[in-house]
Amino acid sequence: METLAIHCEKLEGYLDQFRERGVLHHINGENCKSFDNTVFDTHSPVDESLICKVARGGAVDIDVAAKAARSAFPAWGDMAANERKKILIRIADGIIARAEEIALCESWDTGQPIRFMAKAALRGAENFRFFANKAPGARDGQTLPSASLLNITTRVPIGPVGIITPWNTPFMLSTWKIAPALAAGCTVVHKPAEFSPVTARILMDIAHEAGLPPGVWNLVNGYGEEAGKALTEHPDIKAIAFVGESRTGSMIMKQGADTLKRVHFELGGKNPVVVFEDANLDRALDAAIFMIYSLNGERCTSASRLLIQKSIAAPFLEQLEKRVKNIRVGHPLDPDTEIGPLIHKVHFDKVTSFFDIAKSDGATIAAGGKAVEGNGWYVEPTLFTNASPDMRVSREEIFGPVLTTITFEDETEALSIANGSEYGLAGYIWTNDITRALRFSNNLEAGMIWVNSENVRHLPSPFGGMKASGIGRDGGDWSFDFYMETKHIGIATGEHNIPKLGKM
Ligand code: NAD
Repeated sequence: METLAIHCEKLEGYLDQFRERGVLHHINGENCKSFDNTVFDTHSPVDESLICKVARGGAVDIDVAAKAARSAFPAWGDMAANERKKILIRIADGIIARAEEIALCESWDTGQPIRFMAKAALRGAENFRFFANKAPGARDGQTLPSASLLNITTRVPIGPVGIITPWNTPFMLSTWKIAPALAAGCTVVHKPAEFSPVTARILMDIAHEAGLPPGVWNLVNGYGEEAGKALTEHPDIKAIAFVGESRTGSMIMKQGADTLKRVHFELGGKNPVVVFEDANLDRALDAAIFMIYSLNGERCTSASRLLIQKSIAAPFLEQLEKRVKNIRVGHPLDPDTEIGPLIHKVHFDKVTSFFDIAKSDGATIAAGGKAVEGNGWYVEPTLFTNASPDMRVSREEIFGPVLTTITFEDETEALSIANGSEYGLAGYIWTNDITRALRFSNNLEAGMIWVNSENVRHLPSPFGGMKASGIGRDGGDWSFDFYMETKHIGIATGEHNIPKLGKM
């Protein structure tokens, strides 16, 4: 039986490698420091202790990495897909072999509870295995015959791509972007979030040991405005896959404009969970709680707005309040912990600022609304009731364990509140009326909708958002559409009439 003490002891062993060498870049098959030797510190949100030094990459390091990715591209793109598949499967196996190390380090680096990070590590392996198996079909196309031509389509990898990831579930998200890029035949420069660099480094080691050729996958650590910006501006990088805040996405689009970057954005959300009076209310309650208080609420698909029908609001909210007050906040390596500390002070300040905003806007703080006393960036799971749709707590992404509840009279009002957001990532609908579920889903402005369910990912289905929540879709074949160019080839099937200009 794993306990907090056992986890802490194991973690110490795993962190030794980083204490000795720090988190280095990996460029062209070699671990390396930044060219100017600069570093930054990474701390644990649990107690602010130093984890290790991290190489601080800048434009020069990005340039070397992008050129390595460019040189490695022809051979990797042309490698028999079955060979690429074998390497990606070995990476998946390597992740499984080090899943415990990944989960413990990720919890310590991000503050995410181990109960969720253990699953996230396994999901990382699943991402690699899924896209490995799709690699042999990546170039497949369609046959679209016309009267005079055999029209066929095929796909080719776009080239070296930049992948920029956030800190909320950094390991899983890195695999989610990198695995399809490699399966498609692209080479990669990855810039992980500066607040959580540790597991991206473990992933890189696994990939190297799996036999990935030098230059195919390069890792450059550093700050967004330095390494990240340089990556988005580099002329050898053909596309940027980015996961992070909406305003950063907008900056990246501007930065990439001169080099006409293709972009894929997975951005913020303020996702509604809409509970109608005819729903299975026990299941709706479980799902609503899970979708905001799991992963510290630092989850793009979190259901941060609960829209509840007035006729059932009072008993539902009473149950909700009791449950929220029972959620266990604690050390993220404790298997019993349900909420750990937020990632860092800047984010903690942002989340806690909404407690005063809620009060001054006139919402009721039914649970939480305070930081937890002591070390670390802990906040109490928080519930706002009596909120109206125009309040800031109903509109802005808080990205913490904070739920805003709004009541509605009927379906029309629910839809108008749900769609009255700049975001459009996910939506959750609870009703036993199938016609209403379909009607509401059709009209809800969200890229992903679950009916009578929490977010259950199915890797072949599309993932992504509308409005300020993103551009493009990941998952299944959609990932290949981004990392590849689709070509049309038309072959004459006979001697059709060609217009004869200039002929006398
Ligand atoms: P962020 O935008 O601050 O940072 C994300 C990454 O972008 C980091 O690696 C950062 O260094 C880099 N970056 C920052 N400025 C840059 C610039 N000018 N040029 C290039 N790169 C730059 O986001 P965050 O705070 O790390 O993550 C939280 C956000 O991510 C939330 O808004 C959340 O909703 C979103 N998110 C979305 C999804 C999704 O799938 N839609 C998934 C997870 C997280």
